[in-house]
Amino acid sequence: MELKFYGATKIVTGSNILLSTKKYNLLLDCGLFQGDKELESLNYAPFPYNPSEIDFLILTHAHIDHSGRIPKLIKEGFKGKIISTKPTMQLSEIMLKDCAHIQESDIKWENIRRQRAGEELLVPLYTIEEAQNSIAYFETFNYDEEIELNDDIKLIFRDAGHILGSAILELWIKEDGKNYKVVYTGDLGMPGRPILKDPEYINEADYLIIESTYGNRVHENYREDIDKLIDIIENTAYRGGTVLIPSFAVGRTQELIYELNRYYEYVNKEEYKKIPIYIDSPMAIEATKIFQENAVFFDEEAKNLILSGDNPFEFENLRYIQSQEESMNLNKAQFPKVIISASGMANAGRIRHHLKHNLWNPLNSLVFVGYQAAGTLGRILLDGSKKIKLLGEEIAVELEIYNLQGFSAHADIIFLREWISHLIRKPKKVFIVHGEAEAANNLSKEIFHYFGIECLIPDYGDSVIIENGFTTQTISPVENKLSLLIDLINELNYLEQEISKIEMMLADKKNKKATLKNYDIIKNKVLEIKNALLEINLILGK
Ligand SMILES: [Zn+2]
Repeated sequence: MELKFYGATKIVTGSNILLSTKKYNLLLDCGLFQGDKELESLNYAPFPYNPSEIDFLILTHAHIDHSGRIPKLIKEGFKGKIISTKPTMQLSEIMLKDCAHIQESDIKWENIRRQRAGEELLVPLYTIEEAQNSIAYFETFNYDEEIELNDDIKLIFRDAGHILGSAILELWIKEDGKNYKVVYTGDLGMPGRPILKDPEYINEADYLIIESTYGNRVHENYREDIDKLIDIIENTAYRGGTVLIPSFAVGRTQELIYELNRYYEYVNKEEYKKIPIYIDSPMAIEATKIFQENAVFFDEEAKNLILSGDNPFEFENLRYIQSQEESMNLNKAQFPKVIISASGMANAGRIRHHLKHNLWNPLNSLVFVGYQAAGTLGRILLDGSKKIKLLGEEIAVELEIYNLQGFSAHADIIFLREWISHLIRKPKKVFIVHGEAEAANNLSKEIFHYFGIECLIPDYGDSVIIENGFTTQTISPVENKLSLLIDLINELNYLEQEISKIEMMLADKKNKKATLKNYDIIKNKVLEIKNALLEINLILGK
């Protein structure tokens, strides 16, 4: 058996693992790379395997960083089946179509210009039609149901408690008379979250592939963060401002609605304080409908709420915004309101327009309720940039920024440890994916410290052969691997952040005297950097 890691290696996007036996090829997730332009350009690179030789794609959940390259896989020859839970299929349909829509509209204007200039036209990664057609490849199964893929491979989905339909994979694999049990967590949720059930524990594994998004962090208390959010909303509304919440349309938005429903229907009885809450995301509206259809998967509390006659996705001051015109109208007048809009990392979607109209105003607040990947606009704002370029304009960032990570749908280090402790038969080896290097390294150290299990943090293209209980790691040749490029991109992000910090220090009046004293030294260093940049540009052939 061989495992090859082709995404979410030392980063959190692009999940894609190839599991091959001598007879079959399984793909675990097929996600989109998300972040800055260089990282996203990896989505256009050909798959490092032949899609027509893949028998099954097993999809852990619908998030685009796990599902976003499915239509491309099909376009390039995949003829197998996509195995998932039913909600994952339903949510994938809207997410893939939305992703295609973003790509088609992104290149539309550029292509009009190219056509006029007689230049070659850009082609989107896939079209809305191709996204729609990929749904025919899905075959869906329930949690806890035994799925016989073929004579050698058996599979069970267990609830991962991360988003609706999300699953941990338990795989039983036969090869040359040997049996292997492989467990892949996909994205693992946090216990005690609204709507969803808690993540299930697994008892046994020979090999474990685990996510590590928060492998070096302990989450804030969830309920405390709800209280903080309510305070931010009330304080901002009191001074006449707008609260912007970039939110993943699927999952996080429904949780926010659920909690705000609880607040406005059961806690806040003061009519005048019910400020309007706008859900400005057509995809979030569609996703909310899918949530309502799948109440059978909800936890007891959410089920009881529905049984009592309360629809947790509707309350008096909640408005769903469909049309673009209505969306634009929200920015025509300044009045106290909350706008919840996608995308969650502000790298696409309507939230960017709301940011453009609201970032400059100190009366407003911006609240992050999810992970902000390196290179995204969300991360740049979170890191404290005072000026950003957005939709062709330079915008000053003057509003209050809050980061409420207690909302995270990913296990923190404490829960990751607890989850592993439930494995009675401990794995021989753990492969750590879906986390930036620091988080993955920390999780690796802790797993070794607490459980004595050796871990491996694969780079892009690394392969591991498992034979007779032994693992041999093959590191992919440098010329074939994109991991170096990913490292470089991370370095560039770091440099960008450092430069903007220096810019801020130079602009700071208090700093003027100190910088005057060191003027010559700083000037020489700037010249050195300029020369180095010139050399890099020469190498890149610009
Ligand atoms: Zn996810």
